[in-house]
Amino acid sequence: MQGLQMVDLKRQYEKIKSEVDEAVLRVIASTAFINGPDVNAFAHELASYLGVKHVIPCANGTDALQIALMALDLKPGDEVITPSFTYIATVEVVALLGLKPVFVDVSADNFTMNIDSVRAAITPRTRAIIPVHLYGQSADMEPLLKLAAEHNLPLIEDNAQAIGSDYTFSDGRKLKTGAMGLIGCTSFFPSKNLGCYGDGGAMFTNDDVLAEKLRMIANHGQKQRYYHEIVGCNSRLDSIQAAILRIKLRHLDAYCDARRAAADYYDAAFAGNEHIITPFRAANSRHVFHQYTLKLQGVDRDEVVRALGERHVPAMLYYPVSSHKQNMLRDFVTDEIELPVTDMLNTCVLSLPMHTELSQEELHYISNSLLEVLAKLQTATA
Ligand SMILES: *Cc1c(COP(=O)(O)O)cnc(C)c1O
Repeated sequence: MQGLQMVDLKRQYEKIKSEVDEAVLRVIASTAFINGPDVNAFAHELASYLGVKHVIPCANGTDALQIALMALDLKPGDEVITPSFTYIATVEVVALLGLKPVFVDVSADNFTMNIDSVRAAITPRTRAIIPVHLYGQSADMEPLLKLAAEHNLPLIEDNAQAIGSDYTFSDGRKLKTGAMGLIGCTSFFPSKNLGCYGDGGAMFTNDDVLAEKLRMIANHGQKQRYYHEIVGCNSRLDSIQAAILRIKLRHLDAYCDARRAAADYYDAAFAGNEHIITPFRAANSRHVFHQYTLKLQGVDRDEVVRALGERHVPAMLYYPVSSHKQNMLRDFVTDEIELPVTDMLNTCVLSLPMHTELSQEELHYISNSLLEVLAKLQTATA
C-alpha cells in the first residue's frame, strides 16, 4: 500500500473544501486580515466549547506557553516544574524567560506528570507547574490541582495535544482539558487535533484580570493603542486561520471520535501480542488520540521502524530524546537528576499513523504489517 502518512490533511480538507474555500475567500475579500471579526467569533465559539470564560488567540502554541508564563510576573531563577517527556516547546519557553525548568518524571501508563515526582520537586522557589496532556490524554489533574492548591501554585496546562479531551473528577464534575488550571494553552499547528492551515495558538482562562493581561502581553503590552503598560510581544492569530478554525471546531468532536475509532481498531488488532503494550486509557479521561503511541518490548525498535518503512508504513518516535537530555537545556541538569520512566519511554515508544481519515483498509494494512514485522523479527532472533 502506497501513500500512507502519519497525518493526512488532504483528505480531511477535501471533505470540508467548499466551506473552507468560501470562508478563506470571504476574509480575503473583506481585507480584514488582522483582528477581523472571525478572530473574535472563533475565540467566543472556542470558549463556549471548552466551557471557559476567556479564549485569547495568539500566533502559535509556543507563544501561548510563553505569554502564560510572562503573565505570572516571575523572577529570574524562579522554578517551574515541567515533565521532561514532552515536545521541547514546553520547557524551552521556561528557559527562554530566564526561569529554571525543574524536570519531573511521568507515569509509565499515561505518559503524563507523575504526582509523586511533582511533590518531590516542589521547593520554596517553585512558582508554577506545567502539566502536559500528552498524545491526547489528560494528565491526572485532580491530585495535581490539590497539590498545587496546597502550595498556592498556578497550573498552566499544555493542551496542545489534547484539545477536545476531558477529565472527570471524583465528584462527577467533568471539565475539558485546558479548562482546569489557571491558564490553558494550545496550538493550532496543522497536524494538531484542531489544526489550522498555518500557525496558530490560544490561551484559555476563567480569570477576568488575567485574561486582560494575557491579551495585553500578546499585543505589545497595550490596552489602548500606543499606550504600552508592560513589556509584551506581538502574537496574533490571523483572520484567515480563525475563519478556518471556526469551521473545523464544528467538526472537532467528530474528528476526536474518528481518532478514537482508529485507536479502537489498533487496540483490537494488537490485543494479546507479547511485544506490544497498547496505549493506556484512564477511566476518568477521554483519550482523543493526537498520537497512537504504543510501547514495544522484547524487540529491537530500530529494526521494527526499518521493516515498517520497507512496507511503506510510517512510524515515528515521539520523543527519542527527552528535554533533560537536550544540549539546549544542559545548564538545568544536575548529576542527581533521575527520570527512569522518561528514560525508559525514550527507548520503547512508537507512534503509528493517526488522523481523522484512516480507512478500515489502511488500518488493517498498518496493524497487519506491524504484526508481521514482529513475528518475522522474533523468528529471526529465535
Ligand atoms: C505542538 C506543541 C507545542 C507547540 O505548538 P506550536 O504551535 O508548534 O508552537 C507545545 N507543546 C506541545 C506538547 C505540543 O505538542
